[in-house]
Amino acid sequence: MKYGVNEHGYYGDFGGAYIPEMLYPNVEELRQQYLTIINDPDFKAEFDDLLKNYVGRPSPLYHAKRYSEKYGANIFFKREDLNHTGSHKINNAIGQILLAKRLGKKRIIAETGAGQHGVATATVCALMGIECVVYMGEIDMARQAPNVSRMKMLGATVRPASSGSKTLKDATNEALRDWIANPVDTHYIIGSVVGPYPYPDMVARFQSIISEETKKQLVEHTGKELPEYVLACVGGGSNAMGMFYHFLDDEQVKLVAVEAAGKGVDSGHSAATTFLGHEGVLHGSRTILMQTPDGQVVEPYSISAGLDYPGIGPQHAHLYKINRALYVSVTDDEAMRAGLLCSQMEGIIPAIESSHALAQLEKMKFNPTDNVVICLSGRGDKDLDTFIKYFGY
Ligand SMILES: *Cc1c(COP(=O)(O)O)cnc(C)c1O
Repeated sequence: MKYGVNEHGYYGDFGGAYIPEMLYPNVEELRQQYLTIINDPDFKAEFDDLLKNYVGRPSPLYHAKRYSEKYGANIFFKREDLNHTGSHKINNAIGQILLAKRLGKKRIIAETGAGQHGVATATVCALMGIECVVYMGEIDMARQAPNVSRMKMLGATVRPASSGSKTLKDATNEALRDWIANPVDTHYIIGSVVGPYPYPDMVARFQSIISEETKKQLVEHTGKELPEYVLACVGGGSNAMGMFYHFLDDEQVKLVAVEAAGKGVDSGHSAATTFLGHEGVLHGSRTILMQTPDGQVVEPYSISAGLDYPGIGPQHAHLYKINRALYVSVTDDEAMRAGLLCSQMEGIIPAIESSHALAQLEKMKFNPTDNVVICLSGRGDKDLDTFIKYFGY
């Protein structure tokens, strides 16, 4: 694959595995085994079966007729919001739990910010009867209390991270400490296309089911495999990578990645990584991240918890740098309006993350024959309080 990872774990200038020596055995074990395991026919059969009968795949490709009229093109929603647990995150969680089983791991750890990845991880651990510990910042636990309850209901232990800013990055530090202390029996399920190699490639492969299905479904809808445009929101970048994956080599397909501008890219309250960021190392890989001139990570902000991340996965950094995909950003206000519009024009309440991708439609010019696919990464149930408060209902 032209845009895929090379044998050293890099996408152009980005990627690699910048990890403390004490983590080396864990990451090296994964690196040596992940491709053999996930290419094994037994693995594939079990993965496909669970995606079909547990997650509910294939997720529909829905032709949004009122949107198509409004925007003057054929607009399709890839309905990841209909997956079990409400977003694309379950695709990766299923893949990694099956991998962990084959590596003989008896215990799973994860970090979570908003709690969506924590819930997906707790879900697959319940499914497999494997112990699950989720690290979560103390502040996030208070902000996202319903997801803490969900994880507990599913049998997971939620451990508060009470150092630093008590948010995602502190939870990540705690999870890494745990992994260093338990290298033999524990697998660390990372929730996006971030982290040291091989995680970005592994997670992208598990999420690539999104574009694999989309190609087939487009043939049914339009008679053609390729759309003119593909859009997705980017936090760490896993739903976008899954949505782009099988279109990367089809250079005529325009790929659009939508980041969260928060209160505006120049407001000091933003998560627009490609606009504000510089090259550096974050969570084990060389990528683009928001940082101060002396290299401290800048606290990101977005109204959507899932896009509130100071970096992007290394493959995105590469696609950005070589201009294979267009990186844009959408403010809180634009996203919230788009979420309301989708609810009232299509009867679908999208996650605020996905609403960022929808908002980008307002800024584009289409030809009437264009086919446009948007990844609806998740459903908005988790965001109802935020929507209601925002619109003052
Ligand atoms: C977590 C999340 C995202 C952002 O994560 P990516 O890795 O960038 O996909 C987007 N949408 C939803 C619904 C999420 O839960």
